[in-house]
Amino acid sequence: MSAALSKKERLKISRNPMPEQEPEKRVCSFDEVPLGYSIETAILEAQRCLQCPVPTCIEGCPVRIDIPGFLALVEQGDFLGAAQKIKETNILPAICGRVCPQEEQCEAVCALTKKYTSVAIGRVERFVADYERASGASELPELPPKTGYRVAVVGSGPAGLTVAGEMIRKGHDVTVFEALHRPGGVLVYGIPRFRLPIEVIDHEIDYLKKLGVEFRCNVVIGRLYSIDDLLKEEGYHAVFIGTGAGHPRFLNIPGENLNGVYSANEFLTRVNLMGANKFPEFDTPIVRGERIAVIGAGDTAMDAARTARRLGTRQVTIYYRRTAAEAPCRVEEMHHATEEGIGFEWLTSPVRFLGNERGFLTGVEFQRMELGQPDESGRRRPVPVADSNYVVPAQVAIFALGFNVNPIIAETSPDIITTKEGIIKVDTKTGQTSKPGVFAGGDIITGGATVILAMGQGKIAARSIQEYLTNR
Ligand SMILES: Cc1cc2nc3c(=O)[nH]c(=O)nc-3n(C[C@H](O)[C@H](O)[C@H](O)COP(=O)(O)OP(=O)(O)OC[C@H]3O[C@@H](n4cnc5c(N)ncnc54)[C@H](O)[C@@H]3O)c2cc1C
Ligand code: SF4
Repeated sequence: MSAALSKKERLKISRNPMPEQEPEKRVCSFDEVPLGYSIETAILEAQRCLQCPVPTCIEGCPVRIDIPGFLALVEQGDFLGAAQKIKETNILPAICGRVCPQEEQCEAVCALTKKYTSVAIGRVERFVADYERASGASELPELPPKTGYRVAVVGSGPAGLTVAGEMIRKGHDVTVFEALHRPGGVLVYGIPRFRLPIEVIDHEIDYLKKLGVEFRCNVVIGRLYSIDDLLKEEGYHAVFIGTGAGHPRFLNIPGENLNGVYSANEFLTRVNLMGANKFPEFDTPIVRGERIAVIGAGDTAMDAARTARRLGTRQVTIYYRRTAAEAPCRVEEMHHATEEGIGFEWLTSPVRFLGNERGFLTGVEFQRMELGQPDESGRRRPVPVADSNYVVPAQVAIFALGFNVNPIIAETSPDIITTKEGIIKVDTKTGQTSKPGVFAGGDIITGGATVILAMGQGKIAARSIQEYLTNR
């Protein structure tokens, strides 16, 4: 611990809140909601760290950032040094500082949590990464001599980006193949700009480009090249599959094909990636309406509802078949949605969509639910209440019920063993698939999870790819 402050003095400092835009102002734009710590606040927050001899926070981080190490550098005012320290293990600090559920990870196991409140590790991480970006002084690490090995990464979400960063720093040539026209995966097409600005993602991807990673966008693996093509004809020595879980789930109820019924992925992609909020300046339109119904209560539902609000819709309501207590979203996200005037209706589920003669949505018929016995997830099962149907008017309905994986890789590479849902089976200790030289990680091996878990699996796979290449 730095000699400057005693433990007692550190414990006296309260956790510093994150300054945020006011709700009335922020619903009129896509500008980022949290404003970030100032230098003074970041140092003050870093001073709360006790520099524990056995830092439990590191155990809670899937990519094992040296948390006390970077907090000590922040306390000393060496912000660029702190950025380097984080980047030793995490190449996406500005992203993780914004979107990681730290309250369930490093901060959940911070020594202060038991009696006080945890160090705001994520907020300081974000500060450090933003400071480095604003300074324009991001240093590139020295790379080892080229090995001559070539690694193909399929998918440019957090899992693929992590593997690319690890492999390029081992001296291999790395090509990332991405189906969309822009790299970043869910970071770019799913998470809205008011939570994760595009310049933050671009900066982190530019860093990889500067290290020498090649990005090939608009290439669908399984169409243009198969995995075998990459290994045999294209001359790659190893392949990492990080294609995520981007296939939306529907309920298969009447009316799902009406205009105005979207999956959250389509709705968010139209706005985030295609600029539908600026139509007709951009080509992609989006159905707008007085009332929008969002179905589901996870983080994706909150993102869709808050995006809908920013399209000018006054009445946006989230409908969920359980209660607020079972809602799978982060507490912070529900809090932000509530502040922005999003309504919530619990214990209800849609049974059909109603439309007009032109095929546009006009309303949703719901049925009330009550909670029964716990199901296999441990949560109480929602049970329909007889004769409780009711109709609410809506011009737009958005399904946010979770995701399945895209079957294209499994269909075109039958020697890669998957579950019947298309999840690629791997050895979880190595990320090795059933096909030699092919590794996988991220949502494609878990189903929808989190950025940092995808990155953690990317790291595991990168270690195994390194071992595989070294032992060839
Ligand atoms: C709306 C939304 C909000 C979220 N918010 C958060 C959050 O706040 N915090 C958090 O931790 N997690 C959040 N998540 C979850 C998180 O984003 C994912 O767990 C994470 O992005 C998974 O990373 P990945 O690399 O496995 O895949 P993805 O990010 O899904 O990236 C996969 C990439 O592979 C590409 N691809 C797919 N198939 C092919 C192919 N055949 N050929 C070439 N490319 C292909 C896709 O186009 C995509 O770009 C959110 C998810 C969504 C949908
Ligand atoms: S557990 Fe908390 S107090 Fe201890 S080193 Fe980690 S961040 Fe600092």
